[in-house]
Amino acid sequence: MALPVAEWRGRTARRWAALDSALRERLAAASLHDALCHRAATDKKPEAASWYREQGNREFKRGQYQAALRLYSKAASHELPGSPELSVCFANRSATLLHLGHFEVCLEDIARAESHGYPDRLLPKVLLRKAECLLCLGKLQDAQDILRVLESKFALDGVMSTHLTRLKKLSQLKVKLVEKERHPEPAQEARGGIQEEPEIWQENNRISGASSSLSLGFDAERGRHLVASQDIVPGQSLVKEEAFVSVLCPGECLPLQAGDTAWDTRATNVDLYCHRCLRQLLASVPCQGCSYAKYCSQDCAALAWQQYHRTECSLGALLLTLGVFCHVALRTVLLAGFAEVSRLVAWSHGGDKSLQCPEASCKPLSEAADAGAGSRGVPGCDSSGQYQSSYQALFHLLPHTEQHSPEHKFLCTLSVVAICKQLQAAGLEAAVLSQESPQQRSKPKPCENTSDELSPELKTVAEAMLRHVLQLQWPGDGAVVDKKPVRLATAFFPVLSLLNHSCCPNTSVSFSGTAATVRASQPISSGQEVLHCYGPHWCRMRVAERQQLLSQYFFECRCPACLEELESGVKSKVTTRNSFCCPKCQAQMQGEEDTLCCSNEACATSASRDQLSGRLQDLQQQIKKALGMLRVGKADQAIKMLLKCQVDAGTFLSPEHLLMGEMEDHLAQVYATLGKWQEAARHLKKSIEIVEMHHGPSSVETGHELFKLAQILFNGFAVSEALSTIQRAEGILSVHFGPQNAQIQELQEMKACLSELPRNILQRT
Ligand SMILES: [Zn+2]
Ligand SMILES: [Zn+2]
Ligand SMILES: [Zn+2]
Ligand SMILES: [Zn+2]
Repeated sequence: MALPVAEWRGRTARRWAALDSALRERLAAASLHDALCHRAATDKKPEAASWYREQGNREFKRGQYQAALRLYSKAASHELPGSPELSVCFANRSATLLHLGHFEVCLEDIARAESHGYPDRLLPKVLLRKAECLLCLGKLQDAQDILRVLESKFALDGVMSTHLTRLKKLSQLKVKLVEKERHPEPAQEARGGIQEEPEIWQENNRISGASSSLSLGFDAERGRHLVASQDIVPGQSLVKEEAFVSVLCPGECLPLQAGDTAWDTRATNVDLYCHRCLRQLLASVPCQGCSYAKYCSQDCAALAWQQYHRTECSLGALLLTLGVFCHVALRTVLLAGFAEVSRLVAWSHGGDKSLQCPEASCKPLSEAADAGAGSRGVPGCDSSGQYQSSYQALFHLLPHTEQHSPEHKFLCTLSVVAICKQLQAAGLEAAVLSQESPQQRSKPKPCENTSDELSPELKTVAEAMLRHVLQLQWPGDGAVVDKKPVRLATAFFPVLSLLNHSCCPNTSVSFSGTAATVRASQPISSGQEVLHCYGPHWCRMRVAERQQLLSQYFFECRCPACLEELESGVKSKVTTRNSFCCPKCQAQMQGEEDTLCCSNEACATSASRDQLSGRLQDLQQQIKKALGMLRVGKADQAIKMLLKCQVDAGTFLSPEHLLMGEMEDHLAQVYATLGKWQEAARHLKKSIEIVEMHHGPSSVETGHELFKLAQILFNGFAVSEALSTIQRAEGILSVHFGPQNAQIQELQEMKACLSELPRNILQRT
């Protein structure tokens, strides 16, 4: 979803082809209106709300609280703000939260229900729930106050049949209250025993968010880059940066199948993460205006609204059609403010022709040292020579204008102009351009300007947005990934972008919410360049694949790994490891053509590549099915299927193939759900061997596997082995993620717990 949807791309490609060359250069914007008919809707639909609520009720009755929670959240996003239906939604959701043990969040939802005009006659039900929550949280006085109010209300109303069950609940809660008062729980101990080591962090006084052990370099070959100004140890933080702007990716969603209902009950990124701070959502707060934006809290919702969403809200459908890069471009100019945008656009038209000539930003500084470039002359620095995580720095990221294909630039231009036209049509132009505070802003009024021309100010906005879309085509700037390499959001990190790419980097980047942290993954000596990998790591891809991927971004990698593989012509280890093996003698199969031959000359068996690839696909399907079995609780069948897959795989995949490791990992998972810890540990160790071979013994991937093994050994009371595994996992993960990381904390808690076990248990193991 990074680029506009396929239909839109196809449409623009055809349109492009039909234009004559003179017209192509003028990029007629007026032809847009009719192109925008297929849109994913983001407006609120009360009929969708009631459908989701009914589905939620059904799941609730079946005891499927997690599913019910999700459905009530979907319903809430479609209800109109202030409607009694919305308050009922929040009330229903609070019931699932109570069942799931999220008492604090449950109280928040009850407060939301009350503030949205919850019907009086239903109030006792939520009040009882509130009292129960307070009891569970140990807030006895508050619980008692509510129970008193309820008691007098019931007394006043007299005995009504609807009250009977509630009266019963009330007396149960009173009993519980008395019990709790008699036996107060010991106050929760502060988490003792775990001392967080303070991290060494001294911020650079010339580069915001960078460590003082780095310095900013600049030359024609490398452009801007960061160099170690002193020796750096593994695990040391080098950059800590909040994204200047980030937009949540809508996430993969398979097209609905025939027979599915119109409303989608599946949860994607959009339902799972806060649209502003990217925190994981439990009970989302929906936007007042659209059914799309959801937040972790009222605060996040209000901030997002004030900073950008009041402009984006009515554009939701268009932004979804045009893709997340266009959305990032719009949000970037909204956050920067029109004054800053027009200043830099005007500057870019001046002496330095950086938009026309991308090399300009890489030239010695006398040429670029202008209003926009600092006294020290590095592009993006401010006048005092400081490099900040600012719009000015972002503006100077290379747009690669010359290298992008004309078709691509045309597509991006059309998309950007479409957004500006929509802003104009929706009467939002003033909001985009004005500098007044949000409170002073009047309601958007429909546009009086009916001409097809964009105003000069909007043209400036469009130009800046186009620049930002083109900047985003470069992978180093965009991706915010979660634990697995799945793109969660697209963002601009001006400081992180100073790092150049290497397929064998000396750093590791991790993301938490909208913040990125770069740490040294190996010792870096003073004077060495600090490098990070934009994706194609030498462990995962062959040099040809890496070079092809990077060439899309107009980049020819000359890192040591690439040079070595290219010059020596040695086959990458990746190829031999992930290869097919001979069905007869298990030797490796060779050949670049359609037919593969056994490398054992005495055997001379051959097989077609297509056939082997087909078998590999079938195998992957089978593994998926087995995991499906596990999800519906059929662990025994899952094990049977996975064991069969292993036997099958052994006949045509090399024993070091990554898929062999994945099957071991899945088996470990199934055994762990059955509480068979020894079996689980046995399989996981095999998986770790293969992961280590592919990614290296101190890689993030190995760290994650060791973390799982530590959990399994901990649960199985294999104390001494658990302790040594915890230590190894901690060592690796802290280099990549630092001591604050949740997994590290969990490892330390396991360690503390094991060391408190009575001696006799320790000796038995
Ligand atoms: Zn948030
Ligand atoms: Zn909205
Ligand atoms: Zn490389
Ligand atoms: Zn053979």
